[in-house]
Amino acid sequence: MSGLTAKIETPSITYEQPLGLYIDGKWVKGTEGKTFETINPTNEKPIIAVHEAGPDDVDIAVKAARKALNGVWAETLPSARGQMLTKLADLFDEHVDTLAAIESLDNGKALSMAKVDVGLSSGCLRYYGGWADKIHGKVIDTDPESFNYTRHEPVGVCGQIIPWNFPLLMWAWKIGPALATGNTVVLKTAEQTPLSALYAATLVEKAGIPAGVVNVISGFGKTAGAAIASHMDIDKVAFTGSTVTGRTILQAAAKSNLKKVTLELGGKSPNIVFNDANIEDAISWVNFGIFFNHGQCCCAGSRIYVQSGIYDKFIESFKARTAKNVVGDPFAADTFQGPQVSKLQYDRIMSYIQSGKESGAKVETGGERHGNEGYFIQPTIFSGVSEDMKIMQEEIFGPVCTISKFETEDEVIKRGNETTYGLAAAVHTTNLNTALRVSNALKAGTVWVNCYNMLSYQVPFGGFKESGIGRELGKYALSNYTQVKAVRMRLGGALFG
Ligand code: NAD
Repeated sequence: MSGLTAKIETPSITYEQPLGLYIDGKWVKGTEGKTFETINPTNEKPIIAVHEAGPDDVDIAVKAARKALNGVWAETLPSARGQMLTKLADLFDEHVDTLAAIESLDNGKALSMAKVDVGLSSGCLRYYGGWADKIHGKVIDTDPESFNYTRHEPVGVCGQIIPWNFPLLMWAWKIGPALATGNTVVLKTAEQTPLSALYAATLVEKAGIPAGVVNVISGFGKTAGAAIASHMDIDKVAFTGSTVTGRTILQAAAKSNLKKVTLELGGKSPNIVFNDANIEDAISWVNFGIFFNHGQCCCAGSRIYVQSGIYDKFIESFKARTAKNVVGDPFAADTFQGPQVSKLQYDRIMSYIQSGKESGAKVETGGERHGNEGYFIQPTIFSGVSEDMKIMQEEIFGPVCTISKFETEDEVIKRGNETTYGLAAAVHTTNLNTALRVSNALKAGTVWVNCYNMLSYQVPFGGFKESGIGRELGKYALSNYTQVKAVRMRLGGALFG
């Protein structure tokens, strides 16, 4: 049985790791007394065991969040909420080396990329800190004898379930808007990557955020996650992860208290390159679009369409560009791609690669394990694919893409939209009219033009079709965390009837 903290050595720093559940401002063990190990994906060995939350712990955390919502948090001025979020953002920046090292250790992402994630997380928290005292309703005129106004009130206790691909960033995307708008939170980390979220909870304390406002627990989806989704006293669930689990959460919400649900789910995003694109730039963005974060991005540009006039040249140059992606130790300075997060994900991706080979697609590059230890996979490009192949239809969530030739704009729009997903898409062209026409025609929540994976906390992000419900980031996210109350006052005039 582990204690509540442990000293952990990473290749870059040594630090004190919290291991407990952070509930009501205290670090506690789970009521069932269970722990589970988190695995280092670089060497496949356990890093440490953390305490596991079960349904009873979720219940205790919800009670703490409810008490804070109706008590100390309701009494906290909006401007003070903003200052606390700003302080939390500053603490993220101060602890960048520790947070990034934890992320690289637990998730496997390159340390340089993990540092970018920390900066984006602090930026997001600071951005929403700025919104905290700017949440307001409207006065609505109807007639001289009425005075009507709206209030944008917090939804209440929010259950937040986050994935393992961007553990810290998803923490910030969820907690920033929820706190800015006056909600309280029970956040469950992904079982593969609990460590950075727990460390971030120590910063919540340091930022002066009152006990019970943010509760962070580690646990499994089928127990702790399911308990959040079906809890009768949680008012809203925000989830990022697979479409399958998103559906389960929506069903649990429907069967319990009809809690509000926002979902940020998967994708199979088309990345389209026209003959007139700046080819060197396009190759760089296409490479980044699929291989960034080891392909573990919901918006990964996994279906690449290249117009026939440049197809042959493109494929050769793309292969050459991909060969320069350094795969290896996340703590090495030049690493671009680390290991996949877990054995399960490694096996899943390798089985998709196998399926591509068996269905007759051509492996242009990669297609094998990288090295002998850790969950490393070679960057893999398939050509000779058809739309009905599994590797063209299903989200692989790894460093694997398909490349296809197209002739006309109408054809590529149709093929680009032939998916149940609608998270993202991209167009590479130097023709403004083509860029605008294609962007308008693609059914996706984000369309990038001459770039890829450009995410900013000011700009909304979310999915069309089966890629999700609601939007995160920007001003748009605030409406997911507030409910509108209309107050109608009679000033005089005749009585009804
Ligand atoms: P998942 O969706 O099952 O897990 C994400 C989160 O949901 C985790 O915190 C998990 O504990 C929780 N969860 C799982 N089952 C739950 C349930 N029944 N009720 C409530 N919460 C539950 O994803 P996974 O199994 O880790 O990965 C599978 C696939 O999901 C990946 O291959 C990828 O395609 C996709 N995925 C997408 C994203 C994304 O950012 N959209 C992130 C992670 C995984």
